[in-house]
Amino acid sequence: MKDVLVSKNENAVPIYLMQSEDLKDWCAGADDSANNWLKTHDFKAKPGESIVVPGPDGRIACVVLGVSAPISLWDVAGLPKSLPEGTYALEVTCAQDQRDACALGWLLGCYAYSKFKGAAEASIKARLVTPDGTDASIVQAFADATALVRDLINAPPNELGPTALSAAAKAVADQFGATFKETVGDDLLTNNYPAIHAVGRAAEDAPRLIEISWGSPDLPTVALVGKGVCFDSGGLDIKSAAGMKLMKKDMGGSAHVLGIAHCVMAMGLKVHLKVLIPAVENAIAGNAMRPGDVVATRAGITVEIGNTDAEGRVILADALTRAGEANPEVVIDCATLTGAARVALGTELPALFCNNDTFADEILVAGQNANDPLWRMPLWPGYRKMIEGKVADITNSPDGGYAGAITAALFLERFAPADAAWAHTDIMAWNISSKPGQPEGGEAMGMRAFVGALATRFGKI
Ligand SMILES: [Zn+2]
Repeated sequence: MKDVLVSKNENAVPIYLMQSEDLKDWCAGADDSANNWLKTHDFKAKPGESIVVPGPDGRIACVVLGVSAPISLWDVAGLPKSLPEGTYALEVTCAQDQRDACALGWLLGCYAYSKFKGAAEASIKARLVTPDGTDASIVQAFADATALVRDLINAPPNELGPTALSAAAKAVADQFGATFKETVGDDLLTNNYPAIHAVGRAAEDAPRLIEISWGSPDLPTVALVGKGVCFDSGGLDIKSAAGMKLMKKDMGGSAHVLGIAHCVMAMGLKVHLKVLIPAVENAIAGNAMRPGDVVATRAGITVEIGNTDAEGRVILADALTRAGEANPEVVIDCATLTGAARVALGTELPALFCNNDTFADEILVAGQNANDPLWRMPLWPGYRKMIEGKVADITNSPDGGYAGAITAALFLERFAPADAAWAHTDIMAWNISSKPGQPEGGEAMGMRAFVGALATRFGKI
């Protein structure tokens, strides 16, 4: 995705963007050859529909692309892989944020995960002139962050255990001069992260808490907490083959917070950033956590393990407590937490839980603006009794199974700092099928919404 956005070029092929109802006007100004070509191909300018129009010499005269109103980044995302080699320029009158979206859509349309393909996939040879007024470096930062999120999720689990996830986090920290620290293995016990240790101790690759800090401590602290279960077998409550198949994606939350952090640092937002990633593999061995175990937490709250497959909330508990120790104004956690969130909202719409209406609205509006929607669900106090434990303070797996996304969020609420604006997203982090710019596989969901909300609240340095 490097060197795809280029500076102004007189020979660039124009791409005319239009809604279907504007096609008639455009055709009225075009020559007979173009009109016949569009008619022959029954071109209707539906959103995302494109056609390459040849000139009399057989070269490309222009491209016509149908778009939505307002223009979505996904309208443009199919072009880079379908157009012949060349340099293209968008011809459209639209607001700046839509021009930025087009540039981002183009970059995201170039993405492919081909690390383990025998023959490297053909590289993209269609370049785009950076639209007027668009800051290429910011658009590139969002594209790079999206690629980072997707690459980390797509990485096979034998390539991305806790150690490798930690190395990836350190690379992000190093890129922006942030400080990096990790607490590994039995040091989790001596440093009082017993819940992270309990979930991850059965794996060969030691469990750990990854911490990144960036920006002046005098600025408001934003804490990002991401679930980093590098592979989730379910533990002793082992998953079925079908249920385990995609479980390399169970570190999707950690990939998301690294993506958000990448954007925050690249944009230079006026915040003191803390990134916290509990990284584990939920594996099976003689020392594995059992159903019925009572696990201690950093907060001093005891957790009864109703099901070893509800491990994400257990590791997030210690990380959220740690986040609270930094006195954050805002805490965001991202996690592939429950199947119940998918039952409620499907795979494409992340569930948002938030203890602060103002912050929730900021996130939802930013999500709308960035074409990266979330849907708010309730931290319904009436269900708090469902997470009460029988022999411990709380349980990680309430009986009955109703309202599973909500009870998981209510579990996290016990550990999130009460005086911070706290947002929790329960995400799929995976495209179950391919669409232009959104190939099947790992996906950033809500990342642009969160960065937009933070940029609006805190501004740039
Ligand atoms: Zn699990």
